[in-house]
Amino acid sequence: MTLEQSLPICIAGTWRQGGGERYATCYPATGEPVAWLNAASLDDVEAAVQGAHQAFLHSGWAQRKPHERAAVLLRIAALIRERAEELAQLQRQDNGKPIAETRALVASAAGTFQFFAAACETLEETITPSRGDFLSMSVYEPMGVVAAITPWNSPIASEAQKVAPALAAGNAVVIKPAEITPLLALQLARICDDAGLPKGLVSVLPGKGSLLGDALTRHPLVKRVSFTGGTRTGKHIAHIAADKMMPVSLELGGKSPTIVLDDADLDHAVAGVLYGIFSSSGEACIAGSRLFVARALYEPFMARLSAAAAQLRVGDPADERTQMGPLISAAHRESVERYVALGLAEGGRLRLGGERPRGGMFDHGYFYPPTILEGLGNQQQVCQEEIFGPVLVAMPFDSEQALIEQANDSLYALAAGIWSRDYKRAWALGRKLQAGTVWVNTYKQFSISTPFGGWRDSGLGREKGRLGILQYMEQKSLYWGMNEQPLAWAGVEAGQ
Ligand code: NDP
Repeated sequence: MTLEQSLPICIAGTWRQGGGERYATCYPATGEPVAWLNAASLDDVEAAVQGAHQAFLHSGWAQRKPHERAAVLLRIAALIRERAEELAQLQRQDNGKPIAETRALVASAAGTFQFFAAACETLEETITPSRGDFLSMSVYEPMGVVAAITPWNSPIASEAQKVAPALAAGNAVVIKPAEITPLLALQLARICDDAGLPKGLVSVLPGKGSLLGDALTRHPLVKRVSFTGGTRTGKHIAHIAADKMMPVSLELGGKSPTIVLDDADLDHAVAGVLYGIFSSSGEACIAGSRLFVARALYEPFMARLSAAAAQLRVGDPADERTQMGPLISAAHRESVERYVALGLAEGGRLRLGGERPRGGMFDHGYFYPPTILEGLGNQQQVCQEEIFGPVLVAMPFDSEQALIEQANDSLYALAAGIWSRDYKRAWALGRKLQAGTVWVNTYKQFSISTPFGGWRDSGLGREKGRLGILQYMEQKSLYWGMNEQPLAWAGVEAGQ
């Protein structure tokens, strides 16, 4: 297949051209096309959902025993691992992340399928304590067609986090990947086919979210939406869901505080703060984008942090040593630049960065350097809004009380980090921070077995964790009458 030929997309068990506009997905490091494809159309949305519904009803997937479904998920995990390098290279081109990072994302996707195979096989339905002559049980049923809507920043890992538990639970899934990063979702659908998943259970709809994601969310046969993306889109989806009385899980934005207390181990703190904000070029919902440093430490800490940030290797995503690749698109880089300009207009100072690198690949790709702003207060716009780029705003703090108030003073509440040698102090502080995840003396570490999600504008519901599978199931209570005599109320006697 040549580059110019449109890639087929996967709809209701068949691979064919999408009915929408032709577009190219581009390598953010060069701006050059990686692949062409035709977006899905509204008719394709209808076909994908109807196909998923039919597959849910008639493929027998939902009725398979848990260990049988688990076996297919394990085959998917194995195929992801078998094709890991090819997938990682494709992901690098699709969204410009450094190859070391895309390899980790692919490995994590395989691990997610493996984990939910185990969750599926070991999910227990319970006999509940009875308060009468009956046996009472709590069981779980699959929901039907589930929509998985994902952003561009961590393809395959984001999709796996939704598709694996949804399939494990016995559902069919329609994936709407970000318009500009569709390739890994298509590869995942291919792998599902190759692993022997019944046809039609997974479809992929590349194209515009405002058209396709919206139609998918509104579709009456879609029984749940699992969404990761921006808060504004998440709220839009929540409104539609409210009208349908449909459950949703929303993994949204963040503006996470990282806090360096005066007793912190500075080597660890510098390394962790850098990783927290600048890895993935800051294009991470959990980026530690607000830094609070104890005033006594502020100057020496910032001097070390800036010196280390200036040494980060920004450049070619194909180079294994690269730590920061380009941003996702020209438009997104412009948005990051506007925020930096706004921070300066608000009275901030640049401690580092703030200017596009020049020369070679930098002149074609959407690169932006590690940037540190200071001299700003937590109330200012750059401290309140998600920039989603490599921009850290650093602020000193004087008392722990003032620190807690500022750290919690955000619409978002996704994550937080604390650096301290005193575990009791860190424990007390960690309990007072409002966030879905708090890291102490580490940052941006994840385990699929630990729930993840945000409070407030950072989202609703939790992904991951053994019970993450329950998000994709309806609970049902079953009562079994054990009474020897007919129910007393009607006055009917046995044998009459
Ligand atoms: P968006 O909300 O713009 O997009 C996310 C997905 O939703 C895309 O597939 C998009 O399609 C689709 N979409 C857009 N409009 C609609 C609509 N009206 N109805 C249904 N779907 C729609 O977010 P970004 O892609 O810009 O991703 C960045 C955001 O994601 C950041 O805010 C970040 O914090 C958040 N995020 C949160 C994570 C978490 O776990 N909490 C993890 C990663 C990112 P299209 O591509 O066509 O716009």
